[in-house]
Amino acid sequence: MSIFRSAALITLFACAIALNAMAPGENTGAADSTLDIDRSIQPGDDFYHYANGGWLKTASIPAGQPTFDTRAILAARTSQRVRDLIQGASAANSPKGSAAQKVGDYYASFMDESSIAAKGIAVLADEMSTIAAITNQESLSAYLGSTLNTEVDGLTANADHVFGAWVNQSFTDSQHYVFHLWQGGLGMPDRDAYLDPSPKMDALRAQYQSHIAAMLKLGGVADVDMKAAHILSLEIRVAKSHAPDSDAADVFKQNNPWKRADFPVKAPGLNWDAYFKAAGVAEQSEFVVWQPSAVTGTSALVASESIDVWKDYLRFHLLEHYAAVLPKAVAAEHFAFYGTALAAAQQMPDRSQDAIAATNAALGQAVGQLYTQRYFPPSAKAKAQEMVADLLAAYRTRIPTLSWMSEETKAKALAKLSTLRIDVGYPDTWIDYSKLEIVRGDAIGNMRRAEAFNGSLNLAKLNRPADPDEWRIDPQIVGAVILFSPNTETFSAGLLQPPYFDPQGDTASNYGSAGAGMAHEISHSFDELGNIYDSQGRLDKWWTAEDSARYHAAAAKLVTQFNAYCPLSSLCINGEQSLTENIADLAGLLTAHDAYLLSLKGKPDVVLNGLTGEQRFFLAFAQRWRRAQTEDALRRQVKTDTHAPGEYRSDTVRNVEAWYKAYDVTTANKLFLKPEDRAAIW
Ligand SMILES: [Zn+2]
Repeated sequence: MSIFRSAALITLFACAIALNAMAPGENTGAADSTLDIDRSIQPGDDFYHYANGGWLKTASIPAGQPTFDTRAILAARTSQRVRDLIQGASAANSPKGSAAQKVGDYYASFMDESSIAAKGIAVLADEMSTIAAITNQESLSAYLGSTLNTEVDGLTANADHVFGAWVNQSFTDSQHYVFHLWQGGLGMPDRDAYLDPSPKMDALRAQYQSHIAAMLKLGGVADVDMKAAHILSLEIRVAKSHAPDSDAADVFKQNNPWKRADFPVKAPGLNWDAYFKAAGVAEQSEFVVWQPSAVTGTSALVASESIDVWKDYLRFHLLEHYAAVLPKAVAAEHFAFYGTALAAAQQMPDRSQDAIAATNAALGQAVGQLYTQRYFPPSAKAKAQEMVADLLAAYRTRIPTLSWMSEETKAKALAKLSTLRIDVGYPDTWIDYSKLEIVRGDAIGNMRRAEAFNGSLNLAKLNRPADPDEWRIDPQIVGAVILFSPNTETFSAGLLQPPYFDPQGDTASNYGSAGAGMAHEISHSFDELGNIYDSQGRLDKWWTAEDSARYHAAAAKLVTQFNAYCPLSSLCINGEQSLTENIADLAGLLTAHDAYLLSLKGKPDVVLNGLTGEQRFFLAFAQRWRRAQTEDALRRQVKTDTHAPGEYRSDTVRNVEAWYKAYDVTTANKLFLKPEDRAAIW
């Protein structure tokens, strides 16, 4: 399942590390996949249960979780590996300046609660006195600029602090980085949390207000109840100016190029000179303002709201921002709202879990180096690159055969394919952390320095041409980042492990599993998600109206197929809602199969565990979708998700002639589709 917020960026499985609970024991999973087969089922009658029956019989959903699947297994396994690496680095005496020293000392300092307690809240004295010294719009604007969040990306809904910056190419110029300015400043997750009039959200707001008061009190502020009410009221007005969540899917609403000179005219209130100077971007001239209403609205509030309320707001957010590295009572109050009230978590997680997440956030590529040295060697990367080359070659052959694309559109698609950059595993050049000092025993200092270091790395890009080598996801995250702008896809080392991908394992299975997954993502560059971005990632609708009409006509058979799938008697799939993803599954499966054939270079594949290469390819595809889930989770997925449940995604094989041949599927089998009922889009 992917998170899909912005048309500019899709991220898959991101943040699995930070979110994941304790992992079970190490099990590298390069097991014989045929052991999971239920041989009492005919593959042509129910391919999903044939492929996964053995696994489904033993899979159990962990308590409190809605689902259990391969992704959860990989996230748990990887999380345990990362934990061991970080804790190992913390225990070792690594050379000063090495990746292991920085990672180990960052973690150890975060874990050193007695040192954090001894220093107390006084570690914020400098920031607190800067806030106290704010007297007017100019000094307020400068302080706000100094807290600009420079680490947001295309998935951010609400930046920590007033405004966030994403440094990326623009939607019209692929050669240069510009400053994408983001809405921010809310303590609760989004606009709706402030504006939804339901009693439930009303109660949540009351809890938030109490939380603000409690944090201020811990920070040594007086008159906290009145101040908390004013802060909430200010945030409600900020929230009113935020763009509605539904806008996030429409990139044309986000592409608002502003010049530096536009800010005081379009968004008066903030002293923009002071703001941008304090943010370190005084010279920046080109911006893309994603949510103009939020910039205008927040800026106006700088002028209209009392300076004292702003100062209390800043004190509260300062405490919130550093809560994890402040004395226990602050961290506990932070959890009481964000963990218990917002996420219904009963117990504060083990501190080591937060420490690992914080270390990953501060030193992502340093942890990534430790991870890949151990778990994803250059030979694994080379193997994955070979598969990518076969997938791209397969698309190059398949696109010219598409019946729904006009000749001119095919030429554009092929041009886009030729510039599509696919990266796997880890970067060739790592971030150089030599200028980032990590000192054992200084948790808050480490956090400040790491934020400043990562922020300046981002802002430094503004002065350089767009860098095609920019790496988008830490290797130790089980995930991928699919960007349309630029035209780039990055699959992490964490994702490329068994059973999805085994560098030493069976090629047929690798192509049927990870290969089909990657080919699915590649297809999005050419479908209704990617057809508004050209070969350079610039906004440009490159399908014709006729292409679109023929595409939908060809897709109708897939809608019919999925509408007929009913996991419960009262619950059927909505073939329209899941259509884009179902088409991508079909594209992915067909193209990965072509790529598998290319990998054989004309030689026959071996028989392994009694299965031919063709059989193993399709088996791996069906096993990719295995998942145990509660009935509630199933209902929620069918009603709200654009991805159908795995069982039906696995049934994509019904449209593929090679599957019928591989498993001798005939008219006598339940999954048999007459050739004229099979969808032919890709
Ligand atoms: Zn997809």
